[in-house]
Amino acid sequence: MRAPNLLALMALVFASAAAAEPVIIDHVTVIDGTGRAPKPDMAVVVDGGRFTLVGPSILAKSMTGRRIDGSGKYLIPGLMDIHIHLAGFSRGKETSWIPGSKSTDKWVVNRKEGEQALASFLYAGVTTVLDVGNIPENILPLRGDERAGKILAPHIFATGNLVTYPGSHGTDIAINVRSWPEAEAQLQAQFDNQQPDVQKITYDDEGWGSRPLIPILPRDLLEHIIRFYNLHGVRTTVHISNESRALEAIYSGVDSLAHTPIQGPVTDAFVRMAAAKQVPMATTMTIGDNYSRLHEHPEYLDQPLYVATMAPEERARLKKLVADGGETALRGSPPLYQKSWRLWMKTQTPILEDNLRRIDAAGGVIATGTDTSNGASEHRELELLAEAGVPALHIIRAATYNAARFLGRQETMGSIEEGKIADAVLLSADPLADINNCKSILMVMKAGAIIDESQLDLAGGKQKRRMAQ
Ligand SMILES: [Zn+2]
Repeated sequence: MRAPNLLALMALVFASAAAAEPVIIDHVTVIDGTGRAPKPDMAVVVDGGRFTLVGPSILAKSMTGRRIDGSGKYLIPGLMDIHIHLAGFSRGKETSWIPGSKSTDKWVVNRKEGEQALASFLYAGVTTVLDVGNIPENILPLRGDERAGKILAPHIFATGNLVTYPGSHGTDIAINVRSWPEAEAQLQAQFDNQQPDVQKITYDDEGWGSRPLIPILPRDLLEHIIRFYNLHGVRTTVHISNESRALEAIYSGVDSLAHTPIQGPVTDAFVRMAAAKQVPMATTMTIGDNYSRLHEHPEYLDQPLYVATMAPEERARLKKLVADGGETALRGSPPLYQKSWRLWMKTQTPILEDNLRRIDAAGGVIATGTDTSNGASEHRELELLAEAGVPALHIIRAATYNAARFLGRQETMGSIEEGKIADAVLLSADPLADINNCKSILMVMKAGAIIDESQLDLAGGKQKRRMAQ
């Protein structure tokens, strides 16, 4: 058993402090995450971990509590990344969940790596993550400790093992099922042991990147799996990469897409369906963009958020790979794909960007997911959405309220509205003027508790608090 550490004690202190004294942020411009226009000179009162008042500053004038002057500042909901694979698991030297991995070693859990990745999200203003495929031994104890208030981490939602067909996408970290009703006992055991918050399934035979064709889950089995989890009260999400498989999954009953089609421009009919059906679709551009970005612009690793959240040795290793003329080998990318993988992603990412822009413009529900394991990535995802031509107000909605819809939790989180869980980020500059101002973080609040950055175990080393106390 682990001894209680300082971080755990600090977390408890913060939790009780939050419970004791209301926080009043006044004269702040609120961008509430729902897509509504910003409201200037507002007061946001937080008590007992929830927003208890969101209204004109005058309403909070005589209230007592800890007061934060929000003049000239902007308050947005805590950001969410609804497609991560939290670091902290590997096989020997290589981390890979791509079929074709030859490794037969057992999975190894590195608890510190997982905790540091979680800290990176909080530091970057990401207060909620959904892990959509991991090994249970890595993610589930962290989820338990987060819920028990033992670690400083974002709200963690997780699928545990994903579900697929033998040899299909993600097979290495999946419960592999062949047929119904034989699969039911496997799913029941997964449900009982792992308590998935959202269940991820993979349904893709086409190459993801330049991968060769692989086996796919039979469609009738997909439908049985979705039905099983829904009947247990669990929403489902699915890995797809093209429009046809996305449509088949949606009409098999899936509740969200873990990616938006990237294999080609979607049809106008697909865009109309997205708006009519309101199925949340994850954006997941950063994973693919990272390969060519590292190759062509390795200096991005010197941006403050990366310096704070990545180990100096890891940044140096990645830069050296590029300098040596070696192919991109970001964590998780299998060496056998390398150059073709990078070029495929570079070609397809603008197509995915345009698909997202069209779906959003038509009234579909896009939600930010990065498919990575670092909080800085969230800001790249926002940047790419801006590059795609998605309006800033919609980008913030995609990263907050829409992400909560993806989780099926929009009634309790994802926006700055009275009664909701108080997850928020205070910014020193207007994110609607430039989405990169989402990086100008003064304060991160999770469930009403103000995060003390100096207590976060970040891979880049100890950081100072960004707002005077
Ligand atoms: Zn993924």
